[in-house]
Amino acid sequence: MAEASGSSAADTGASPQTPPPVVKGKKDGLVLIHSGDGKGKTTAALGLALRALGYGWKVCMIQFIKGKWSCGEHEAAKAFGGRFEIHPMGDGFTWDTKDRARDIARVREGWDLARQKAASGEYRMLILDEINYVLGYDYLPAAEVVEFLTTRPANLHVVLTGRNPPPEVEAVADLITEMVKIKHPYEAGIKAQKGIEF
Ligand code: ATP
Ligand code: MG
Repeated sequence: MAEASGSSAADTGASPQTPPPVVKGKKDGLVLIHSGDGKGKTTAALGLALRALGYGWKVCMIQFIKGKWSCGEHEAAKAFGGRFEIHPMGDGFTWDTKDRARDIARVREGWDLARQKAASGEYRMLILDEINYVLGYDYLPAAEVVEFLTTRPANLHVVLTGRNPPPEVEAVADLITEMVKIKHPYEAGIKAQKGIEF
């Protein structure tokens, strides 16, 4: 990490190991972003879901892009007796789009469902999986997502995943973690593995 310019540790009397001051405050619901080109954005969100489910909370995940395969998490969700909903909305969605208007309409359906779930007050965690890609393609205005995040129920944790989140969405987040790819099995010609990729 680059050394901070301006005042040095000697100026402030603090040791270089002194952590930054913590601003204390109670916040019930957080906005979290998992971004970056490395693997782990969606699976880290699923880890948070597992943690939240452990407290008896309800969790809703909207998947804005449908994967190739049915995923283990869809089967696992059934074990929570309706407390963990996963809604794949990206049916037929393709980046090599033949019908942009249809793709936008599909995204809109997912977004409307997300807002409806949040407004119900039933859920403590809402995962907007791959929504950052959708924003990057301008299929949904970032301003709408910012408006939602800043007016949502106060105790609702919202997790947004996908590469390259827009800066205005990052600005309202409490936590941003960027997954950095060091190695990926695809590069060694290893195909997607059950229990790891799906
Ligand atoms: P995961 O769902 O495994 O947590 P992710 O959400 O970080 O992955 P996505 O961008 O949603 O990744 O990509 C979906 C799929 O692409 C996953 O199966 C993942 O393993 C794979 N993938 C992620 N990063 C890379 C990469 N750098 N190179 C090749 N494939 C990748
Ligand atoms: Mg993902």
